[in-house]
Amino acid sequence: MDENEKFDKYAVRFEDLYKIYRMGGNEVRALDGVSAKFEKGSFWAIMGPSGSGKSTMLNILGCLDRPTSGQYYLNGHDVSQMPDDDLSDIRLKYLGFIFQSFNLIPQLSVEENIALPLYYLGWPLQKRMERARELGGMVGLNKRLSHRPSELSGGQQQRVAIARALANDPVFLLADEPTGNLDTATSIEIIELLKKLNRDGKTIIMVTHEPDIAAHANSRLVMRDGKIQKIEGGAL
Ligand code: ADP
Ligand code: MG
Repeated sequence: MDENEKFDKYAVRFEDLYKIYRMGGNEVRALDGVSAKFEKGSFWAIMGPSGSGKSTMLNILGCLDRPTSGQYYLNGHDVSQMPDDDLSDIRLKYLGFIFQSFNLIPQLSVEENIALPLYYLGWPLQKRMERARELGGMVGLNKRLSHRPSELSGGQQQRVAIARALANDPVFLLADEPTGNLDTATSIEIIELLKKLNRDGKTIIMVTHEPDIAAHANSRLVMRDGKIQKIEGGAL
């Protein structure tokens, strides 16, 4: 990405996005002409019933898949039809992922898990461990840096995953049901952490089917049959 693109007002712009699966004679429009803009600094929840296109949108947002047609501008850069190698580069450099199941590496300590993306980005050991400790502190895990994931509670494991997702200072955090494996009290803790990160300027896009969780975001986008059914609290 060149210098100018850093100044795009939008973390994400979708223009008339389609994702069409052909199955025998049938076609399924998983995304059926979606246009949306997610401003930098925003906190969006993507909602909708099963089969409405949430996972498809998440995969495209996260540069894990490409649309059939239409444009996706990530931080001003058209990534709609990039080859796989370039997309994995974009993911590593510009995106942060948080999953329902944490996806930590069990053999690595907390700080090593947090530092892992920086290893792939080629940071030297000392710099990446310094950054990992700083991020570990930011998510409240100062005293757990040398522990293994199995020694942590679910909420603590999700904090590690959040710190790891922040390591590359991503354009946005993409959270897929981030509280789906947590009890109610811990879910609130994690959502409060995401809100704090958002207040500090981080753009967050969260897929969730839980209205209570979605209510914490500043804006909500509701999908239905591959289309945007409703937008709350944010401009299209
Ligand atoms: P959600 O995550 O909201 O449940 P999905 O994005 O997974 O919805 O799916 C949207 C629609 O696209 C559904 O009708 C689903 O069956 C269809 N679909 C998703 N992935 C594929 C695929 N790989 N092949 C065929 N159809 C698919
Ligand atoms: Mg899904």
